[in-house]
Amino acid sequence: MLTLRNADACYGAAQALHQVSLSAGPGDVLALAGRNGAGKSTALKVLAGHLALRSGTLEFDGKTLANPTPEMMSHLGVAYVPEDRQVFPSLSVRENLVISTVAHPRPRGGWTIDRVFELFPRLKERRRAFGQELSGGEQQMLAIGRALLCQPRLLLLDEPTEGLAPVVVAAVVEAIREIVAEKAGIIIVEQNFTVPEALATSFSVMDTGRIAWNGTKAEYMENRRDVMSLLSGL
Ligand code: ATP
Repeated sequence: MLTLRNADACYGAAQALHQVSLSAGPGDVLALAGRNGAGKSTALKVLAGHLALRSGTLEFDGKTLANPTPEMMSHLGVAYVPEDRQVFPSLSVRENLVISTVAHPRPRGGWTIDRVFELFPRLKERRRAFGQELSGGEQQMLAIGRALLCQPRLLLLDEPTEGLAPVVVAAVVEAIREIVAEKAGIIIVEQNFTVPEALATSFSVMDTGRIAWNGTKAEYMENRRDVMSLLSGL
């Protein structure tokens, strides 16, 4: 579905990605890990059309996208949940969700606000609370809920469990399982593979803007100890 090939990307003169290749299809969960500054968020920004490629290609369903923009990627069904979640602080939980449904009036998939509330019952309890009143975990659930209402074919999650209580992490993991059961793909960025290990179908490690290791689930399980020590040594 979405493939990044040999991508270089820069912030001004500083090159943040070097020849990065990543791919995720329907039902795939790609876990991307690496230390701070490795380039994980930058890779997601490129996939979401928020940062232009210096060289390389971004392909969707086998077609190269000439100048991907956030609007184009969203229209194709790529939903992006950035690390800072970007919920609207002065709108209620329900209003934050309604905005996504308005932006996607002809749903491709079956996500509704009621289904988001079933997935995250805490959001239903907090439906009248303003974005700015939410805890970090509630904001994360809201950000994922909003992304689901875009009826995504591919969901890009940047550190969705960072700093969250175990009960919220469990809710996010359960949400990922449900999303994958609907044959959407997911790319999940985390500092390490602890949370995504049980969910991922493929694994990539980034270091200094490059892919330092990647493999299928089977390859990861075979080399788990080496991959763990690679991650801890970075
Ligand atoms: P983290 O977990 O800290 O978010 P990361 O692996 O996601 O780390 P990136 O945020 O992609 O890493 O950063 C990759 C490199 O690009 C780093 O050297 C970072 O300082 C730099 N960088 C990131 N965002 C910007 C920006 N907006 N302007 C300039 N440089 C940036």
